[in-house]
Amino acid sequence: MNHKLRAFKAKKSLGQNFLFDANIIRKIIQLFAPQPNDFVLEIGPGFGALTENLLQSGCHYTGIEIDERLIFELQERFSDYENFTLRHVDFRKLDLSQLSSVHVSIRIIGNIPYHITSSIVFSAFMHHNLIADMMLMMQKEVAERVVAGHGCKDFGILSVISQTYAQPEIVLTVPPTVFIPRPDIESAIVRWDFTQKQERQPEDPEFFRIFVRTIFNQRRKILRNTLKKMGDVVLFENEKTIDLQRRPEELSVLEIIDLCNAFKAYSFPNQTGSDR
Ligand code: SAM
Repeated sequence: MNHKLRAFKAKKSLGQNFLFDANIIRKIIQLFAPQPNDFVLEIGPGFGALTENLLQSGCHYTGIEIDERLIFELQERFSDYENFTLRHVDFRKLDLSQLSSVHVSIRIIGNIPYHITSSIVFSAFMHHNLIADMMLMMQKEVAERVVAGHGCKDFGILSVISQTYAQPEIVLTVPPTVFIPRPDIESAIVRWDFTQKQERQPEDPEFFRIFVRTIFNQRRKILRNTLKKMGDVVLFENEKTIDLQRRPEELSVLEIIDLCNAFKAYSFPNQTGSDR
């Protein structure tokens, strides 16, 4: 396989840095621990570095690959496995609810393109109710943002959304030397456990996404100044005895969820998620 990998013209635009180091591949599979009846979805199988081990576990496997050249390669290599399914589609355009018709939670794994990590993560979170866990390789700095707690400089949109619906942790750091072509950066693998959600949840997930984005886009401003563009904060603050003097990074994830729910109920009492 290595000779094919070396001859392949990797596309930078698709973030193609392929794993070839057997030790790292073994470690990743051990950490993921696929089981025979799991429903596993791999984002961007590429040349199948992780795919073979996943298939051999006996799990029900679906690979989602955007590059047609790799579709041919993967079909040729793995179509003899009965538990192998491949879809030629952009993961971000995939409706996960169409896949999990058997009502089994999906387990997601992937060594994904660095430049679209956030959009891949956010599109997975749109289907958080369907996912059991997710393990993704990404740039180490991005992984640190995912797991950052409030009060840290890295705490932001990715941390809040990640920690609302799941509990993320960094399970492995990965050097550039295990990839072809070699990236310029360190990588890390984050695992999200979707069975560990915050004890209260956003009542309107779409509003929550906009709310979190709005407050963190102005992270140095106190909440009162940012939220006044969205509604009557003075009355809201007085009636609810909420302190909007703080900056978004000072609030815990649960405080942000509670604030968003209260603000939405106060400012848009008759609006449901489907009204937008
Ligand atoms: N999993 C392989 C490995 O570890 O060697 C390949 C990893 S490579 C970093 C990323 C893979 O994701 C490539 O195969 C690329 O073609 C694919 N890809 C890029 N964007 C994608 C998207 N939006 N949806 C699905 N696959 C994508």
